[in-house]
Amino acid sequence: VGVNNLPVKQKGLPKPTGEDGVSVGDFDVAGGITKLRVLNEIRRREAVARVDISTATGLSRGTVTAITADLIQEGLVIELEGAPEAGMPSQRGRPRVLLSLNPDALRVVGVKVAPDTIAVSITNFIGDVVARHDTAVQVRLREPEDVARLVQEGIDHALALAGLTLAQTAGIGIGVPGFIDHASGLCRWSPVFGEADIPFGQMMAKRLGRPVLLDNDANLVALAEQWFGPRRAESDFLVVTVEHGVGMGLVLDHRLYRGALRVASEFGHTKIQQGGALCRCGQRGCVEAYVAEYAMVREAGAFMPACDISDPQATRLALDELARLAEAKDPMALDIYHRAGTILGIGLANLINILNPPLIVLSGRAMRSAHLFWEAIMAALRANTVGGEQDLPRIEVHPWGDDVWARGAAALVLDRLYQLPQNGS
Ligand SMILES: [Zn+2]
Repeated sequence: VGVNNLPVKQKGLPKPTGEDGVSVGDFDVAGGITKLRVLNEIRRREAVARVDISTATGLSRGTVTAITADLIQEGLVIELEGAPEAGMPSQRGRPRVLLSLNPDALRVVGVKVAPDTIAVSITNFIGDVVARHDTAVQVRLREPEDVARLVQEGIDHALALAGLTLAQTAGIGIGVPGFIDHASGLCRWSPVFGEADIPFGQMMAKRLGRPVLLDNDANLVALAEQWFGPRRAESDFLVVTVEHGVGMGLVLDHRLYRGALRVASEFGHTKIQQGGALCRCGQRGCVEAYVAEYAMVREAGAFMPACDISDPQATRLALDELARLAEAKDPMALDIYHRAGTILGIGLANLINILNPPLIVLSGRAMRSAHLFWEAIMAALRANTVGGEQDLPRIEVHPWGDDVWARGAAALVLDRLYQLPQNGS
C-alpha cells in the first residue's frame, strides 16, 4: 500500500547548503529530512516566522530561508502578512511575514465507515472539509463487496461536488472501527462487518485503481489531533473516543503507535471485570461493554422502552433520551452515567499508571454529555492513579463532529506523504 503523487518527492529534495553540518551524499536523505523538519514546524505552529523556525529547529537562518523558498515555490507553503514584530520601532513598519501551509496545495479523500453511515469528505492540506457526501446504510446487513461499492459511489459523489477527479487527489484514507491491520488493509474484526478477516483495503484499491490507506477509526481521530488539533505540538498524548464503541489512539514521540500486529491501543477491549458484561467482540468484561453507547442503553433497559442495541440508529435515539433524563436529574439515568464514568475512569487510571501521559483527549459522540460523566471519571482517577491529584495529566474534551474523522483520514494520507520524521528531526 502506498500513495501516488508525493509532492515532496515529485519536486525533488531541497538544495543542500551544508552549513548546518548536514552530510550530503549523492542521494540527499539528510536534506529531505531537514525539509520535513521545517515543514513540520510550520504545520505544528499554524503560522510561524522564519526566525522562529530557525530557533525551534536549530537550523541556521540561511538554511531556513533556502528551504522555505523551495516550499513556497512548490506551492506547499504560503506567506501571510502578520502583525508588526514586537519591539520593532514602528516607523520601520515592516509587517512580520509569517509562513503557513497552503490550504490549496492538495486534496485528500477521507472515508468513515460507521455502522449506519458511509461518510466521504474531500479535505484540503490543512484538514478543512471542502466537500462531503453521506450515505445512510445499515452496513452490517450488507455484503462487504456491496459496502465497497457504496463507498466507491460515495467517493464519486463527493468528488463531483468538489469538481475533482480521483486522479487530482493526493490519496484515499478510510477509517473503520475494530481491529484493523493498517499495513495490509485487512479488517481482522470489525463491528460493522458480519464476518472476520475482510481485505477491505485491497477491495477498495482494486475498485478505485489507486492505493488506499485503511486504519482504525480511533487512530484517525488521534492523527486528526496530531495534524490539525489545538494540541498538535504535543509529542505525547492519547485520545479516547466513546460512541458506538470505545476506541483509542496513542501518539508517542510525535508518532501514532500501532504495535507489532498493528492492532494496538484497543483500550475498549481491555478487561475491567472478570467474566463481566458481554462485549460486541465476543469476550466479557471489556471497558466497552460498560461505557459504549450500546452498553449504556442496554443498562437503561430496566426503566426505558426496549431497544434493539444491534440497531445503531435506535441505540442513538435511546441514548439521547437517556441523556435527556439525566439532564432532568432522573436518579436512574444519572446512575447509569455514574457507573459508565466510573468504569471509564478506572480504565483511564490504568492507562495513566502505565503510560504517564501529559495529556488525555476525550472525544466521540457520547462525550457531548461529558459533564454527566465528569465527576465519576475524576473520582475514579483520584482513587486509582499512583500519584496525587496534582500528578494527573490534563484531561480535555475536544469538540466533536463527523469532520474529525474526515480530518483524520486526510491526516492518514498526509502522514504517509510526508512520513513525519521521528522526534521532529
Ligand atoms: Zn470487547
